[in-house]
Amino acid sequence: MNFLYELKSFIFPKNVLNFNTASPVHPTSRGIPVPTVKLKEGSKSLSVSAEVCPTKAIQIVSETEVRFDYGKCLQCGLCTECSDGKLRNSGFIYTFALSRDELKVTYISGRMEKVSDLPFPLTANQLKFRELTKKRGFLYREVAAAGNNTVESELNASFNSVFDSEREGVRCVASPKHADAIVFSGPVGKNMVAPLETAWEVIAEPKALIACGTEAVSGGLFPMGKRPAEPDLYISGDPPRPDVILQGFRLLMGRFSFRFQEALHKILENE
Ligand code: SF4
Repeated sequence: MNFLYELKSFIFPKNVLNFNTASPVHPTSRGIPVPTVKLKEGSKSLSVSAEVCPTKAIQIVSETEVRFDYGKCLQCGLCTECSDGKLRNSGFIYTFALSRDELKVTYISGRMEKVSDLPFPLTANQLKFRELTKKRGFLYREVAAAGNNTVESELNASFNSVFDSEREGVRCVASPKHADAIVFSGPVGKNMVAPLETAWEVIAEPKALIACGTEAVSGGLFPMGKRPAEPDLYISGDPPRPDVILQGFRLLMGRFSFRFQEALHKILENE
């Protein structure tokens, strides 16, 4: 039986995720909530959704304007259930960006504001990190900064044969002294401020700080603790899937051309 299985794996193509054809919308995931055409009737009636949101990711600005902070969103779907059809789960899961503001989206009368088509301005550190890692990939030390281990589970899964992180040259190492980047999860509880800072300090320049998971991006359900620096990459989701994490890493290395707001705008406008 084992022999037949081995033979099958030689004959049939490998079941490895193809990054170039992977979609930001996943058919079986809830993804982030987005407005439906019904929101044109007015956003004030979304007050129940805003109230029920456990992380207060929805802000109703006026009768016509509503703001979503997808860096706070757990993708739990609670807001859509009580929105009287004005919100829906989009299945959009690529909630990662090189700046925190990119994850904040404003909808006017149910339509997403037009996004800038200018190239994203990278910080000096992001540019240097890109130069270092575009060809060779990077090594990271993971720091669980008061998280709940879900991000760690997904990071573990990113090394399995479906996602295969190492084909991108991305590997987890035991010591920050051997790392190019820190990937941290959790809202950085007070007991984890110093360990995270120490891990960050010992890495040589250029280096990158990667906030992985909604808690690391915004605190999520908890107050956000002190980070050693402004992250170079924010990957939201509670937890983000392995393919989302890896696409985020590819964006940071300059191997994937992606802007969160641009991709979301395109998908919503084409519906
Ligand atoms: S956290 Fe849950 S309730 Fe809040 S915006 Fe996201 S999906 Fe909606």
